[in-house]
Amino acid sequence: MGDYKAFLTIPRKEAGYRPVHDRIHDFGEVEQTLNEGDRRLQASRCMDCGVPFCNWACPLGNKPPEWNDAVYKGDFKRAYILLNSTNDFPEFTGRVCPALCEKACVLNLTLHEPTTNRENEAAITEIAYRENFVVPVSPERNGKRVAVIGSGPSGLSAANRLNRMGYSVTVYEKREKAGGLLRYGIPNFKLNKTVIDRRIALMEKEGVLFCYGKSFTPDNLPEGYDAYVIATGTPTARDLRIPGRELEGVHLALELLSQQNRVLYGEDVSEEERVTCKGKDVLVIGGGDTGSDCIGTAHRQGCKSVTQIEIMPKPPVGPTDPANPWPAWPRTLKTSSSHEEGCVRRWNINTLRFLGENGKLTGVEVQPIDWEPDKEGGRPKMVPAADPEIIPAGIVFLAMGFMKPDLPEVADNVFWAGDALSGASLVVRAMASGHDAAQKVDHYLKSKVKA
Ligand SMILES: Cc1cc2nc3c(=O)[nH]c(=O)nc-3n(C[C@H](O)[C@H](O)[C@H](O)COP(=O)(O)OP(=O)(O)OC[C@H]3O[C@@H](n4cnc5c(N)ncnc54)[C@H](O)[C@@H]3O)c2cc1C
Ligand code: SF4
Repeated sequence: MGDYKAFLTIPRKEAGYRPVHDRIHDFGEVEQTLNEGDRRLQASRCMDCGVPFCNWACPLGNKPPEWNDAVYKGDFKRAYILLNSTNDFPEFTGRVCPALCEKACVLNLTLHEPTTNRENEAAITEIAYRENFVVPVSPERNGKRVAVIGSGPSGLSAANRLNRMGYSVTVYEKREKAGGLLRYGIPNFKLNKTVIDRRIALMEKEGVLFCYGKSFTPDNLPEGYDAYVIATGTPTARDLRIPGRELEGVHLALELLSQQNRVLYGEDVSEEERVTCKGKDVLVIGGGDTGSDCIGTAHRQGCKSVTQIEIMPKPPVGPTDPANPWPAWPRTLKTSSSHEEGCVRRWNINTLRFLGENGKLTGVEVQPIDWEPDKEGGRPKMVPAADPEIIPAGIVFLAMGFMKPDLPEVADNVFWAGDALSGASLVVRAMASGHDAAQKVDHYLKSKVKA
């Protein structure tokens, strides 16, 4: 720790987003970067606490105090080595992690100005790539073969770990490219897809084989492997089976997000297939991150207006909520870059039916509701709070989460990872789960050798 009093004099400084009027006309990443001098000053604010709550809160067990110190001293190579020792893909988390570590930072408790760990992570990684500190390694092979099914962050991190342990790894992916929801869900304005391509190229150089367009199920796995990791995510989105669901203009969120990312990659999508918000009043049902990504995409497609509704109450506003104190993740109101771009946000709204004319959506009937506590201690009950009303809409996106898959019994050389195992979660948790699965494969195969 270089400057143990820096936090007293240097305020938190975020790089911030590109101005709204500029960014909503393209799909380039919205987040900017600090210059190297400012980045080092930000890293100097880390207090190297005796108990590093950041490390405890990070699902990967990242060690911000160690790499922040290296950044402060200008040693970006050491910073990358330290960061990469626990985090296989800091270029992903540096862009899209909600930074659980920052919420648990002691500076968040005392000043509400935590260290900028996530941004520091992205900066370390970009400098490491630019300065050629990120070089392919050539692990010594141990003669064992592992197949990974699914190439989202959990499959990729399992593959990367196993490959570096010396296993010969093949990743089977049903789509045409690797990345899972990093590529086919998260919009380019949060994560440019060249960042994924760069990492996949490195993994290929290190010996990981990628086979695209290959779909496997737990009872039909590819033959010839000593162990398997299944990392197939949560493919089924929660739907809203209410009257009018069949109308043209009612879509699942990923129909918009996935297609937009594919179009940006240069894929041909016919006019009839095209999901577009251009000139339309957009309604997003679901108040979470996927809904927020629909808002940002709708703006960039030239929508007329966007409204986002959520059935649950508005979360407390402010840095903390006394009901869920530091260092736990604060369940407070989050405002994303997409919300800042313009959006009406409403809470406690139930959706009753989709309305249309000639088979096309024209609006949605909704009802303001309240949640009444159950006297017997059960779940709160939804009760009407006002008369139903109609929100005019030319297109609707259902962003209400994903179904947790039922996992069948599998042989003892098959391991699950990521959202498939936990239900829909976060990139950082999926990566941690991939590590965990790699560790289990390694223990399993080593125990077989001993037996
Ligand atoms: C729109 C959206 C935005 C998000 N934004 C964020 C964010 O900003 N920050 C964050 O931390 N998290 C975010 N998440 C959550 C995060 O993307 C996921 O938690 C994470 O990608 C899960 O990783 P995974 O590897 O388990 O599964 P996935 O990323 O879903 O990958 C699963 C892969 O398996 C493949 N597959 C499926 N079935 C088969 C099969 N039978 N055979 C072969 N391959 C198969 C799929 O094609 C896919 O490539 C977002 C999610 C969505 C939907
Ligand atoms: S991965 Fe996320 S939680 Fe972990 S150190 Fe990085 S920003 Fe913090």
